[in-house]
Amino acid sequence: GLAKEPKVYLRALFDYNPEEDKAIPCREAGLAFRRGDVLQVVCQDDATWWQAKHEGDVNPRAGLIPSKHFQERRLALRRPMTNTQPQKISRKPSGFRRSFRLSRRDKKTNKSMYECKKSEQYDTADVPTYEEVAPYRKGHGAKHRLVILVGPTGVGLNEMKRKLLISDPQHFGVTIPHTSRTKRSQESDGVEYHFISKHLFETDIHNNKFIEHGEYKGNYYGTSVDSVRSVLAKNKVCLLDVQPHTLKHLRTAEFKPYVVFVKPPSIERLRETRKNAKIISGKDDKGSSKPFMEEDFQEMINAAQLMENQYGHLFEKVIVNDDLAAAFSELKLALRKVETETHWVPISWTH
Ligand code: 5GP
Repeated sequence: GLAKEPKVYLRALFDYNPEEDKAIPCREAGLAFRRGDVLQVVCQDDATWWQAKHEGDVNPRAGLIPSKHFQERRLALRRPMTNTQPQKISRKPSGFRRSFRLSRRDKKTNKSMYECKKSEQYDTADVPTYEEVAPYRKGHGAKHRLVILVGPTGVGLNEMKRKLLISDPQHFGVTIPHTSRTKRSQESDGVEYHFISKHLFETDIHNNKFIEHGEYKGNYYGTSVDSVRSVLAKNKVCLLDVQPHTLKHLRTAEFKPYVVFVKPPSIERLRETRKNAKIISGKDDKGSSKPFMEEDFQEMINAAQLMENQYGHLFEKVIVNDDLAAAFSELKLALRKVETETHWVPISWTH
């Protein structure tokens, strides 16, 4: 009998146009694809050129695509040194965000390509090529996928989160952050924050208990991994907005994050729609706010562009927040689909 071959599906993490590829043996035989496309690989016998077709195509045409190894090698070689530095996202952060970003950036720069060159091994770990995926659908009783919202400051993540919470408080939940500052009289532990000592906060940082943390006016603030778990344990959809560099740590089988990128519309539309709006710069509505300025618009657009360049391959859904109500509906629909339909996820999440 014909044993059914296991099928290999890859999500492309880069755009590919064979017309522009000088290395391909025959351009007409190439298969063009876009970042995010799911490809079914039909032949991996050749070390350099694989054969693949677009998944879900009615009339799929198989064509040549660069193998993972080949693509990684040539991208790592081509990559200018400066690109290995994490990109600076220019913004005017609150004191909190700034200290947080700097601490993470230092960590990241430890990674260098210099050693790799010496040993003729290229640093391919961060070169996005393909990711093996498998179909996944949330089973009855299974935990919800973590919903991660990313986007530049001022784009409206807080508003969208708040609208979701209000629209269905039984269904959606948000994390309760930790802080080392003293509790105010009207606050209760475990409601506004989990209030812990500075010492315990530092121990927890050391033990990687936090997804993100930073300092503000001499106190620590942060969101713990366990605070996400406790929302999911209540069978709620946990809404989390984070800096995109945290995605690396959150993309686990446990959380199966669904990553939504919220981006600003054109600068003209920003001027029209955000004229009298205010930027909320904190993590919640207790944060300071100020009116939008013209320079904030350009900064938001630049920040969004940098995020998309560096992390776009991790975004499963991109929503342009032009009109808030429309963006919200789009998000709500996407989240319903995540719960009810089959999606492609990294194959390691399905074992
Ligand atoms: P407060 O001490 O007045 O409650 O908050 C001080 C600042 O810390 C506010 O701007 C608030 O938005 C911010 N903040 C509180 N919790 C978190 C958190 O978990 N992460 C981040 N990034 N900021 C937080």
